[in-house]
Amino acid sequence: AYDFSERIGRVAPSATLAISNLAAEKEAEGADIVDLSVGEPDFDTPENIVEAGKDALDAGHTGYTSSNGIPQLKEAIAEKLRGTGIDADADEVIVTPGGKQALYETFQTLIDDGDEVVLLDPAWVSYEAMAKLAGADLSRVDLAPHGFQLEPALDQLAETVSDDTELLVVNSPSNPTGAVFSEAALEGVRDLAVEHDVAVISDEIYEQITYDADHLSLASLDGMADRTVTINGFSKAYSMTGWRLGYLHATEEFVGQAGKLHSHSVSCAVNFVQRAGVEALENTDESVTEMRDAFRDRRDLLVDLFDEHGVDVDVGDGAFYMMIPVDEDDQAWCEAAIEEASVACVPGSAFNAPGYARISYAASEERLREAVDRLVSNDLL
Ligand code: PLP
Repeated sequence: AYDFSERIGRVAPSATLAISNLAAEKEAEGADIVDLSVGEPDFDTPENIVEAGKDALDAGHTGYTSSNGIPQLKEAIAEKLRGTGIDADADEVIVTPGGKQALYETFQTLIDDGDEVVLLDPAWVSYEAMAKLAGADLSRVDLAPHGFQLEPALDQLAETVSDDTELLVVNSPSNPTGAVFSEAALEGVRDLAVEHDVAVISDEIYEQITYDADHLSLASLDGMADRTVTINGFSKAYSMTGWRLGYLHATEEFVGQAGKLHSHSVSCAVNFVQRAGVEALENTDESVTEMRDAFRDRRDLLVDLFDEHGVDVDVGDGAFYMMIPVDEDDQAWCEAAIEEASVACVPGSAFNAPGYARISYAASEERLREAVDRLVSNDLL
């Protein structure tokens, strides 16, 4: 029989995937589920990117690439990062199969057993799992009482971060709240990180999906260049979830260390996908804007619909998620939502935010209306 590692026992399966699987099962049985549980844009990958992928296949780009990525893509990524004020060089980039792998490599590269990692709750599910796999002890700061914003919680963050802290994880725009952190909040993070010599992961995967607030890259702030690992990817901005393409940017020294894990695990990201990634970065602004505008319209629609039914939501300014207040037992509420109303959403508990449910509004306006109607007619709102 297998003797499973203590390490693998530290983590639970992804709660978001569990709900999506349940929704898929019910759909297979013929149920009409409005699935608002998934973290992926509902748009096709823009045509120019698909064509670039096909062209790359036809041109025979099917072998391994250099481990950290093809030079054209690393250069395009560095150029893109320079656009948000990060003094980036192609040698400071590792191209990964998805942002998730970039995060995984980062935790493994920085964390020893017993190191303290600070998370801002509600936090995306996989940070906790990745931190625990690396042996971290977690400390958490709850943003829920502050409308999911970081700026009003800076005092609590200051009480939590100390010289013993190894790593702080920041995700703006946020999954699951959609919150975009203010410049003052990020400067507060910088001040604490510098004071206590803490490394920071800045997960900016929803960077392109912001509405009225401006996105700010943490690594562009004074004092952050040599302590930030910037994570980004193509899944959300370019609707490329299944292509699996992302990256990390940090110092060359960091890339040297993390690159060992990268080369011994995934070897490299997929060759023709990397070539499509160059096209995505260089020629897709129009599609990105169209998708962003659609997300904004849907968010506004949902806010109006919830408002009509007396549900007060702390509305985020980015990503395509919203946390709505539900029963204290959010797990039971989400079960009722799927069983009785055929609407799938993710319990807030999965993000360490009990009493909420996460709604992904990467769905058509018609389906969003349908979801709210069903929740209302089943007395769930
Ligand atoms: N970071 C956050 C906050 C996410 O929500 C996701 C995807 O759900 C990722 C990273 C990883 O995405 P991918 O691995 O598809 O690039």
